[in-house]
Amino acid sequence: MKQKVRKVSRLLSRTDKAIDRFREKSKLVCKSNCGSCCYTNKVESTVLEFLPLAEFLWQNKTADAVLEQLAQTEENDHCIFYIPEPAEPSLGRCSIYEHRGLLCRLFGFAIRINKRGEPELLACKLIKESDNNQLDIFKIVNSKYPKPIMGLYYMQLADIDYALTKTMLPVNKAIQEAILLYGFNALFDCQKDDLSPPKNKRKKAN
Ligand code: SF4
Repeated sequence: MKQKVRKVSRLLSRTDKAIDRFREKSKLVCKSNCGSCCYTNKVESTVLEFLPLAEFLWQNKTADAVLEQLAQTEENDHCIFYIPEPAEPSLGRCSIYEHRGLLCRLFGFAIRINKRGEPELLACKLIKESDNNQLDIFKIVNSKYPKPIMGLYYMQLADIDYALTKTMLPVNKAIQEAILLYGFNALFDCQKDDLSPPKNKRKKAN
């Protein structure tokens, strides 16, 4: 499990680097403090991309509290880690930003291939229509510089563990399953250690 988490973490940091390069070239930016893409019940992700978050929560002894919170969420709730501003809930922040999933990183700054087989920017209306961005989306999508392609990053994720990527789940469900999976594996590893003979006993037996 730990090795799997390391692989996902490495993929997330490669993704960040590719997005940074793309942002620099394209000059794409989000509206300051905007949380519209998190303040929705439409975010879906895989379990695997949240395993590094799960590890972080177990190591910080906050996994149980988060699981309790997740158990109380309704299907239509936005991600539990989104902290909306009380006066304007579409403004806010991600409270686990460094540990967010692959989709959370790619959204707004990646290319996907649409149903007609054409490349398009995977971004919200706010980014696409923002005056500040002074965007020419067509130019960005068709530019020569490298652009993160969402499908390629999800293929790399599937290479790490296909079973944990084949279903896209509502984000709270994906996070819940990642925390439970990491917890069960840690428990199983502890029990295995308890059951195996101490090293010096093993040596004498040999
Ligand atoms: S993990 Fe963070 S970035 Fe991803 S949906 Fe939740 S609040 Fe938004």
